[in-house]
Amino acid sequence: MSRVNPKFATELKKYGSDDFNACFNCGNCTATCSLSTADSSFPREMIRYTTLGLEEDIKASLKPWECYYCGECSSECPRQASPGELMMSLRRWLTAQYDWTGLSGLMYKSLPMSIAAFVLTFVGVMAFAFSADFDLEHMMHVGHLFEAISIASIMAIIFVPNIARMWYFTILKPKTKVPFKKYVSSLGEFFIHMFTQKQALGCDDNRFRWFEHFILVIGYLSLLFTTVFMDWFNTQYLFVIIFGYVVSAIVFVVTVDFVNSRIKKKKVMNQKSQPSDWFFVIWLFLMGLTAFMTRLFIDLDIIEMNKWLYIVHLTILVQWALIIVPFGKWTHFLYRSFAMYFAKLKEN
Ligand code: SF4
Ligand code: SF4
Repeated sequence: MSRVNPKFATELKKYGSDDFNACFNCGNCTATCSLSTADSSFPREMIRYTTLGLEEDIKASLKPWECYYCGECSSECPRQASPGELMMSLRRWLTAQYDWTGLSGLMYKSLPMSIAAFVLTFVGVMAFAFSADFDLEHMMHVGHLFEAISIASIMAIIFVPNIARMWYFTILKPKTKVPFKKYVSSLGEFFIHMFTQKQALGCDDNRFRWFEHFILVIGYLSLLFTTVFMDWFNTQYLFVIIFGYVVSAIVFVVTVDFVNSRIKKKKVMNQKSQPSDWFFVIWLFLMGLTAFMTRLFIDLDIIEMNKWLYIVHLTILVQWALIIVPFGKWTHFLYRSFAMYFAKLKEN
């Protein structure tokens, strides 16, 4: 018998969803959802678990990650219980459960905490710039090192333990027996979902959104590769320079559309944006834009006169790497890919 947490529904409201109590359990949402199957049925089940306070069952479930927030269920709900938003809030809550540091939960629940983290990182960058005497070459060298070191450290200190915790909650604790051979043979599932998010193609009205996400993932990963491994700001290779321009432009152009959609709120999935959603799209936009501008100023030979631009770029980069990637919405990209892999492991 699962332990019941009577305060779970109240806790979940801090992660964004507050309409689910209106649900009268008709099942329309599950019938409407293009991704729900007989073997993996949602979102109604998740609403029931939430209202009953079955916290441990939710923690052991991968279903919140199978939802791609197309919003069909919310449009069809006769009670305006916003089941799609509930699934999104569960993903935020799960992210906080996987995170051993507890910082994800703190930032999701408290806007002042997030703002304090952004301000602190800004102060840190400014202190570094002063200590470096605003020497652009030195700042760029350290900025480049920071990218490589932060990726490796966040992977080792934050993501590896968090993914181990996710595995523990969803596979080990529920006593799912998985032969080692299956861990190896199913690994392709992880990479396919990470690079293509192919499950999202199952949503009926989702083709363009899927394409935008696909382009953004490829653009973002390519920009990361170009700046970290090909030292884009310092390289003289024309191909790398042009490639960097193209991928950074892709990142900021696609994110302009995302920000625009959130402002206009025409689609269901954009109607209840939380601060973490805004931070993600705005910082990604600023990353692409300031990277593009920095390289352009280098090529126009005006970067020395405009050091402020690199300091802005470095601030955005540090905030992205230390706040949004390890504790914000970026993590959904990683956990979802692992969720698809773990779901494959659980298949009979
Ligand atoms: S969320 Fe809405 S559609 Fe789904 S079971 Fe509840 S009332 Fe029905
Ligand atoms: S938002 Fe879309 S994918 Fe998610 S549960 Fe609702 S219908 Fe299914």
